[in-house]
Amino acid sequence: MRKYVIMGAQGSGKGTQSELLCRGLDLVHISVGAVFRWHVKNRTKLGARVRRLVTAGELVGDDLVEDVVRERLAQHDWNHGFVLDGFPRNRRQAEFFLESYDVDAVIHLDLPDEEVRRRVLARRLCSRCGQDYNLISRRPEVEGRCDVCGGELVTRADDTPEALDRRLADHHRTTGPVLELFRRKEHVVTVDASAGMDAVQQRVRDRLGLPPHLPPG
Ligand code: AMP
Repeated sequence: MRKYVIMGAQGSGKGTQSELLCRGLDLVHISVGAVFRWHVKNRTKLGARVRRLVTAGELVGDDLVEDVVRERLAQHDWNHGFVLDGFPRNRRQAEFFLESYDVDAVIHLDLPDEEVRRRVLARRLCSRCGQDYNLISRRPEVEGRCDVCGGELVTRADDTPEALDRRLADHHRTTGPVLELFRRKEHVVTVDASAGMDAVQQRVRDRLGLPPHLPPG
């Protein structure tokens, strides 16, 4: 069983690195943001409560996020472990997490703000199946269309320059204290996330003592 938390600013590659880590190691990628986006898209009751905040890139209330994480982890569909992405995001969430759960390591992806901006504004998402793209590093074969299902590629509603600046400021304010709390109890590895996705994945695995990353092809 392997359990990890992954942290980093938007665009630092949390989603991509989580997916690469999960593939091969048979872990489950638990993205809290993706859970909320699913609820918004499918117009659930929870979706209606969080729609405005998620669209504006603002944080959802701690009680609600904690309930979502507790319920998600209680599903126990992660026999071999999980990578938790997007949680905890502040001190209170970290205290809640540390009271109830243990992880093998916290992966902190480190990226300068300028590179965060460049990457985030190039992000696209398939409106049908949710596959991620990036016009810099992971372009679709046909412009504007998903390689997997042919759906239309759109910009995430919270990937505007204004929402991004707000999230970056939040990120800097809250990340330090969260890492500090984690360092007292857990193994924290900080990895430079500015290289390509395969190189970053290899660094993460080296630091965690995991089997090597085998890029496709
Ligand atoms: P993400 O995909 O991680 O950028 O998350 C998208 C949105 O989901 C955020 O802008 C928040 O509105 C909400 N969200 C995700 N994780 C959290 C969290 N740990 N605490 C509060 N809100 C969150």
